[in-house]
Amino acid sequence: MPAPLIDNYQRLHDNLRLSVTDRCNIRCFYCMPEKDVEFVPRAEILRFEEMERFARIAVDLGVKKIRVTGGEPLVRKDLHILVRKLVEMPGVEDVALTTNGVLLAPQAEALYDAGLRRLNIHLDTLDRARFEEITRRDELHRVLEGIDAAQRLGFGPIKINAVAVKGLVEQDIVPLAQFGRERGIEIRYIEFMPLDAQNLWDRSRVLLAENILTMLAEGIGPLDPVPDPDPRAPALEYRFRDGRGQVGFIASVSRPFCLNCNRIRLTADGKLRYCLFAIEETDVKGLLRGGAPDEEIAETIRATVRAKWLGHEINQGERFVPPPRPMYAIGG
Ligand code: SF4
Repeated sequence: MPAPLIDNYQRLHDNLRLSVTDRCNIRCFYCMPEKDVEFVPRAEILRFEEMERFARIAVDLGVKKIRVTGGEPLVRKDLHILVRKLVEMPGVEDVALTTNGVLLAPQAEALYDAGLRRLNIHLDTLDRARFEEITRRDELHRVLEGIDAAQRLGFGPIKINAVAVKGLVEQDIVPLAQFGRERGIEIRYIEFMPLDAQNLWDRSRVLLAENILTMLAEGIGPLDPVPDPDPRAPALEYRFRDGRGQVGFIASVSRPFCLNCNRIRLTADGKLRYCLFAIEETDVKGLLRGGAPDEEIAETIRATVRAKWLGHEINQGERFVPPPRPMYAIGG
């Protein structure tokens, strides 16, 4: 049995984020420019067999959970084929998908039949005009159709990821939570992170988790921290005291969770990253396409984990250097 993937800070890595494309069918301003987006040439995007091979090698090293991300993963043709391979891979305990939901309704059945159950759907607002303002696309109705289809088919858990940009979505915080309470869906509020392609990020635009908690308590009712959450899960979980609904916070800026990080990431063009904010990355595509044996790829994964830093440096003032890739080219 190979040694588990443990870094120099004694963090066990068993969670792989697998980006299947950098393309997306919407244009969230805090992620992508509206026009002239630079995508990697299609030939540079890993083929499903290459992703599957990499995943198998990582699973042999102890990875148990795989999250499929993008860009927007559902723009990748026949994604359900790869999803089934991952779900049926020996050693894999959980496969999840992060999507913007625009293409979910037409693909939900094939994904469900492929064995997928866990969904995170990115949705910042239920307001049509603000949705278009944020994404530069008038697609809210299709996202809601996607949520309906997923619930109808029996996907679960379904969570909604809402990026909380200050000065823009304050009026959406409570309506989203109400929506979640009605639908039995957890709303995850994500603090705005410096990962956008145009360097728009500024600390003053981060709606902090504690501010959102106050809004929810005032707008709906008291919340209590969920006892004994999984310490390695990134979200801070709270349950409404009236028993109707739960919300989570990905508070990367105000309450970083790097000390418990268990994630490595493979970009769609085959770069291995030990952190969302990593400056350095290691090419795996050359190994996958160059006939390298599994052991050489396994050693590359081990070396990447050994090289992992303590965590992002967003709160380290001048030390913080934004990663050389924007969010859509890394994957959530
Ligand atoms: S910022 Fe990096 S180290 Fe911190 S939790 Fe995210 S991926 Fe892990």
